[in-house]
Amino acid sequence: MLSHDEIKDTAYGIGFDLCGVARARTFLKNAEAFDLWLDRGYDSSLEYMRRNCDKRMDVKQLVEGAQTIVVCAVSYKSSISGGYQSTDRCKIASYACNRDYHKTLKKMLQQLLRALQERHPSLEGRAFVDSAPILEKQYAVEAGLGWIGRQSLLITPKYGSYVLLGELVLNTESDAYDKPMQTVGCGECRRCIEACPTGAIVEEMTIDTSRCISCRTIESDNTSAIDLHGWIFGCDECQNCCPYNSQAKRQRNPSFDPLFDPRDISSEEWQAMSEEDFSLRFGSTPLKRSGLERIKKNI
Ligand code: SF4
Ligand code: SF4
Repeated sequence: MLSHDEIKDTAYGIGFDLCGVARARTFLKNAEAFDLWLDRGYDSSLEYMRRNCDKRMDVKQLVEGAQTIVVCAVSYKSSISGGYQSTDRCKIASYACNRDYHKTLKKMLQQLLRALQERHPSLEGRAFVDSAPILEKQYAVEAGLGWIGRQSLLITPKYGSYVLLGELVLNTESDAYDKPMQTVGCGECRRCIEACPTGAIVEEMTIDTSRCISCRTIESDNTSAIDLHGWIFGCDECQNCCPYNSQAKRQRNPSFDPLFDPRDISSEEWQAMSEEDFSLRFGSTPLKRSGLERIKKNI
């Protein structure tokens, strides 16, 4: 049996800002809400959301023998998070100004897994960072990291929503599990709903992705013509307005420092940029995912 305290101490030692331990389980209520969301067509062009629905709701169908989910998070709040003026026209979501987090987080999770395996040789597990249909925000809630805000993102009391999540799915039980937080939440606040420039937060915790700038600037299908409000990759509007984010600490891990500041790059500079220059300057960031042509089109 794994030790809950040992898991969390090891995770903090590796550099995670938050860690919680949840029991693997099926999310029946979430499945109903998810089906309704799909029925309304709010997934728009995100076709992958319709695949592997059974696995998404039941992690044991994804990883045989799954018993325990360790949810880890790192903060990425930087000077760019919430730092734009309303006149800025080449805005990029602050996470995308950093080195692509997938590799960094996965390495940290694998380090955690190896450390646990040294003490528990029969332990088996898999590390996931956006690479499988896991209800990671719901598991983060189960593991006591925070709650899901009205804009559908995980909110943590200390780091707000500027957190990146990764999970270890383990085949062994823990001697204790964390519990969801009971005394915090959004209260009467509705700032994110009011701040969304396109009305994409159609109900509490319900996003119409056809109207969401974050999806429309990144996903390959850009057929829905919406005003991007100066965002050329991602959108942080519903995070920048959140009081939990205003009071959140800036991150301290150099692996998540911004590699560039979008406020220093004009639209003319973007339009004149060559593929070679783009690759040299932004090849290690998430911007590589959509590519230069898409950024120019968004501008
Ligand atoms: S990311 Fe932007 S467009 Fe999408 S819900 Fe948030 S504020 Fe609205
Ligand atoms: S802005 Fe307000 S309603 Fe939205 S997630 Fe933050 S606290 Fe919750």
